[in-house]
Amino acid sequence: MSKNKSSESVKVVVRCRPLNRKEESNGPAGGIIQMDVRLGQVILRNPRAPVSEPQKTFTFDAVYDANSKQRDLYDESVRPLIDSVLAGINGTIFAYGQTGTGKTYTMQGAWMDPEKRGVIPNAFDHIFTHISRSQSDRQYLVRASYLEIYLEEVRDLLDPNHGNARALELRESPESGVYVRDLTSCVCKSIKEIEEVMNMGNQARAVGATDMNEHSSRSHALFLITVECSQPGPDGRKHIRVGRLNLVDLAGSERQAKTGVQGERLKEAAKINLSLSALGNVISALADGRSSHVPYRDSKLTRLLQDSLGGNAKTVMVATLGPAPQHYDETLTTLRYANRAKNIQNQPRVNEDPKDALLREFQREIARLRAQLNHRKWRSKQKKEQVDGEGWERDGDEETEGEEEEGVEKEAEEYVKLEEQRLEMETEAIRGDQFMLAEEKQRLLGERERMMGDLRKEQEATEQLTAKYKAMESKLLVGGKNIIDHTNEQQKMLEMKRHEIAEQSRSEREIQQQVLVQDEETLELRETFTSLQQEVEAKTKKLKKYLKLYAKLQCIKAEIKDVNDEHVRSRQELEQTQNELTRELKFKYLIIENFIPPEEKNKIMNRLTFDPEEDQWKFQSLVPAESKSSQMKKRPTSAVGYKRPISQYARVAIAMGAHSRYRAENIMFLELDMTPPNTASLAVAELNQSHSLDNSPTKDRGVRKSRSWCQTPKSITSSSSNVSLAACHTATPMAAQ
Ligand code: ADP
Ligand code: MG
Repeated sequence: MSKNKSSESVKVVVRCRPLNRKEESNGPAGGIIQMDVRLGQVILRNPRAPVSEPQKTFTFDAVYDANSKQRDLYDESVRPLIDSVLAGINGTIFAYGQTGTGKTYTMQGAWMDPEKRGVIPNAFDHIFTHISRSQSDRQYLVRASYLEIYLEEVRDLLDPNHGNARALELRESPESGVYVRDLTSCVCKSIKEIEEVMNMGNQARAVGATDMNEHSSRSHALFLITVECSQPGPDGRKHIRVGRLNLVDLAGSERQAKTGVQGERLKEAAKINLSLSALGNVISALADGRSSHVPYRDSKLTRLLQDSLGGNAKTVMVATLGPAPQHYDETLTTLRYANRAKNIQNQPRVNEDPKDALLREFQREIARLRAQLNHRKWRSKQKKEQVDGEGWERDGDEETEGEEEEGVEKEAEEYVKLEEQRLEMETEAIRGDQFMLAEEKQRLLGERERMMGDLRKEQEATEQLTAKYKAMESKLLVGGKNIIDHTNEQQKMLEMKRHEIAEQSRSEREIQQQVLVQDEETLELRETFTSLQQEVEAKTKKLKKYLKLYAKLQCIKAEIKDVNDEHVRSRQELEQTQNELTRELKFKYLIIENFIPPEEKNKIMNRLTFDPEEDQWKFQSLVPAESKSSQMKKRPTSAVGYKRPISQYARVAIAMGAHSRYRAENIMFLELDMTPPNTASLAVAELNQSHSLDNSPTKDRGVRKSRSWCQTPKSITSSSSNVSLAACHTATPMAAQ
């Protein structure tokens, strides 16, 4: 199957849940799905078609029928992937299917019941058991994050503020590919801790959603586990391998009704399955193999899963089906989708020594803290030896490093104790000394107290440092310890046998599938015949083969028809959405063209830029960020000391007291009107006017009221407003002069 050495195809497995009570009570029709577990085939019956119509058959890497156990799916299809993650390869498992077909059951299950634990809790067990059984020269760091994508917004499910938190942004780096900025990441030291993380996220998901069913069928949940492992290489240096595991519970694949909604609801509806349809397009483009453009950037989900689809990861897709006849169309779509995904090729590789490995940082920090701590302890030990009068001597040759450190720690503790005792004794002695002067006594006592304080402070600092060091160190898991391994040898053997069986049944299925293909080919080879009887036999066989081929052809024709129908349906839906969006756009245009002045509109348009990262239009700031500091322009040299640039000639002319045209300002000297405002005269004027107003048209009122206080009473007395305004104009300069 693989195209080149390092490439491998996406593994696709199908799981069908049992009929539920409601479906059973609907009638005796039974399920529409048959599964051949041995061959990995799903046979789908169309409940509306005549019996003569051939059934549709699909072949997958594995199929799990209604009787399958969670453990079967895990051991056979998921375990090899998690093993790869532990070896430093990225891995993704995603569950795809209609709402209510068992995606969440497969991924999470009922984690309290060991029989019903889904992929995620089983992966926790697997990872931590692997660590506890690995060699002691390995160090591990396990981190977990949990997020959901709802209406094209990425939300952190581990953020205590989940309900009100703003949507997170996606970023891309050459080192770790696409990642979510500011996503909470919890270091987990045990199965219990990582289970708590999962439960916390699940609760946040449930609380955030008013109608849980509605919410879960529209949101994608991603549980991310990063396993970093440090191990000495053949060169003697420690090498770090990082495996990232994405566990994805996708939104329900059924079509959401988008028709008949407007405005915000329309926008929301358009976003509901955007990620899912983008995922479909990405899978189609990759499976096709011919298209040069893969539309990863069309949605948040496809960007996050970019590596898992056609990139550096191993991927398992679990397509879930319901057996009920009324969901035939959805089931067929899911099977087609899954069938297409089989053709995607990935190029997984081991992530060795990436720059962003957190484990390396932890190791450095631990080493730094240990050095600090050792320094302190050695200092205390040295002091003790000085006190004991033993001098500085080490018999380190006989002690190993660990013993030596322990010895130092003990001696440091002893030193602190002895110092304390000594200071206390001295204090007592000073207190009891009757021949000492009171002042001297006080001074010595104070000194002892200060020394005691210093000693305690020192001790506290050491304790804090030790606590920090221990907390840091406890986050790193060392192979072979840290986690209590409850399983005994017998259990281990049992597990191994189970894995072997899973492995065997997988390879058996592969062989069966190959045999099936080869059977058809060998039929063609047996064409040489000696007798008439043989010829008849051969021709009958050939005829049978042609009949088979004819049936196949009919199947394919039916499939083409189905695909066409589906395309027509989705096209109609898209057209409808497009029509509604166009109508909305026209409405917005109408508002813009009639209510926003064109120059304002242009100003706004010039400032808008599209941010593809956030998929939004944004306003450019008026002042570019980098030029904010140099916003003030320098004054030209011709303007130093003046308000505006003046030529040399004009300067000379000003100095000579020449014509006023060379003056830059104060061209005309005017004196201010110093007459104070006189309200009494204004009141009289108003009174006069209200008289004349009675017979003047009301529209003049506004003009009259806008009169300035500096008008001379003489002009205001005029009966007509026009005259009074004219008077105002002529009166003001006169008064000013
Ligand atoms: P989805 O997440 O796809 O919407 P759920 O996982 O919530 O669907 O499953 C719907 C119901 O079907 C749940 O009550 C679940 O317990 C049940 N169910 C799903 N798959 C199985 C299965 N394989 N065996 C038994 N019950 C199942
Ligand atoms: Mg679900």
